[in-house]
Amino acid sequence: MSGTPGEAVDYIIVGGGSAGCVLANRLSADPRNRVVLLEAGGTNEAMWVKIPAGMHTVVGQPDRNWFRVSEPDPSVNDRSLLWFAGKGLGGGSAINGMVYIRGTQYDYNQWAALGCTGWSWDDVLPYFKRSEDFDGPDSQWHGKGGELGVSRLRAVHPLTHDFIQACADNGIKRLEEYCSGDIDGVYINYATQRNGQRASAAEAFLKPAMRRPNLRVVTGAMVDRVLLEGKRAVGVRYAKDGAVHDLRANAEVILCAGTMPSPLILMRSGIGPGAQLQEHGIALVAKSAEVGQNLHEHPTAANSRLVDVPTYNVRNNPFRLASEGLKYLFARRGWLTTPAVHAQAHIRTSPDMEHPDVKLQLLPFWTDQTTRPYFLPDEPIPDATRHFGVTIAANTVQPKSRGEVRLRSADPAAPPVIHFRVYEHPSDLESMRRGLQFANQLFAAPSLSRHITGTAYPPDPEQSDAEWDAQLRACTTIGVHATSTCRMGGDAASVVDPRLRVRGIEGLRVADCSIFPNLPSANTNAPVIMVAEKCADMVLEDRR
Ligand SMILES: Cc1cc2nc3c(=O)[nH]c(=O)nc-3n(C[C@H](O)[C@H](O)[C@H](O)COP(=O)(O)OP(=O)(O)OC[C@H]3O[C@@H](n4cnc5c(N)ncnc54)[C@H](O)[C@@H]3O)c2cc1C
Repeated sequence: MSGTPGEAVDYIIVGGGSAGCVLANRLSADPRNRVVLLEAGGTNEAMWVKIPAGMHTVVGQPDRNWFRVSEPDPSVNDRSLLWFAGKGLGGGSAINGMVYIRGTQYDYNQWAALGCTGWSWDDVLPYFKRSEDFDGPDSQWHGKGGELGVSRLRAVHPLTHDFIQACADNGIKRLEEYCSGDIDGVYINYATQRNGQRASAAEAFLKPAMRRPNLRVVTGAMVDRVLLEGKRAVGVRYAKDGAVHDLRANAEVILCAGTMPSPLILMRSGIGPGAQLQEHGIALVAKSAEVGQNLHEHPTAANSRLVDVPTYNVRNNPFRLASEGLKYLFARRGWLTTPAVHAQAHIRTSPDMEHPDVKLQLLPFWTDQTTRPYFLPDEPIPDATRHFGVTIAANTVQPKSRGEVRLRSADPAAPPVIHFRVYEHPSDLESMRRGLQFANQLFAAPSLSRHITGTAYPPDPEQSDAEWDAQLRACTTIGVHATSTCRMGGDAASVVDPRLRVRGIEGLRVADCSIFPNLPSANTNAPVIMVAEKCADMVLEDRR
């Protein structure tokens, strides 16, 4: 669309990440809708974004990852944790681990029970399927012909089968299909990929739509706030190349800036907790006490061993690297096609639990979390070792701890104040400890133990409960699945209603991970794409 800042459009989408790219596609499908997508980052056009194993490189690049530092967290020895989030077109989906997973029937039925009418499993399943182009056999649980490539792994690491056998030996059932809303078992995961390449939301949804004359995509556009006239959203203010622009929207503004930025944009616009806005000199337009609250995140920690078979700790082996490079170049096959996680198991850390409380992930490599729990901007994930290793990582799937994100100042360039409070609730620490102790049992099973040549991280995995707890407080990181800071609900205190409309303001919705009432028992990319699909339908219905 030939347009300039200052023009009037119908829909403004703020943030070109997982959700924003879907909305840009769906809303611009009708040529009568003039749509502008504003993205703070760049285009994310790079070879390593497309090559799945390139994740280990791109995730460390500050032009693709916001790298925000949390406040010291007393529940993890006052450590500051790094919040990762994708920056640039595709957002998180351009740098993430590509695990495709939806969550459970229970997760979404719980959303509906919390007052989110229209969000039960039966309601959301068609939206998951609508997006999808699954490369496996026809199935009632999968879609074909959608924009988002969902693929079976092209190179399953041999230890994956040993892990599955070890799970079976420990009473965990093998699932042939885990997209049915039942993930209670162990399975080889699918990847958001097409033909061996990453299927970011930008590749899948945005690029095909960018040819449309009624869609304009502006990168390098940092949105400050929503422009309001009375209680109606009429546009946004953003900065690009050092200049400030106001852009008006005739129909709606839709915030898709992600779990940390979206509540901050609301607050800078005068929508949020009164006292916090007052502290930063922002005039209150609509009081909404929960904006920025309820931050939900999966804690993550690892149990790794050294093994006698080659794993992805191959950077020390140029011959292996060269051979994998050739396989990828000529056939889109081999290790360069694979995501970091090859299999997942959902377990109950106590037999009386109704639902699994921990997800275990099998990663065919290890990193030393004692010295390098994080890698720094511009550095690839360190292979950390001259030895091959394997990792079983744990997440508590529905943690009870909640954090918050707050404004540091009214300046849009100021980093947010993030409090994760990872282990504020003691049961989350206990679940993690038990989950990683269960990993010891899996490593001891014959299928895996025959490959183990030594311990790696932690150095003594048979340590006492107290030592495990100390280890977890010292090394737990976040699972990069932050949600719920603009909680959706049927109650008046929720930030958005079940049609994702910001309460108290007309013409303004939020559609990203921030609206989740709580975390699904799963990674969050497919769920947020589903949210955007459903949001698009609601926006178009309300236009009529
Ligand atoms: C390293 C990593 C690994 C992950 N692995 C997996 C995985 O394997 N499987 C899975 O399912 N999930 C995974 N996730 C999580 C998943 O990718 C995210 O939950 C999802 O991408 C979030 O989507 P979103 O639309 O809510 O926000 P995002 O995708 O983060 O999009 C928000 C966009 O808004 C832009 N933006 C922010 N502020 C502004 C502003 N003020 N103005 C304009 N634009 C702005 C951002 O640059 C970004 O492009 C991972 C995430 C990360 C970071």
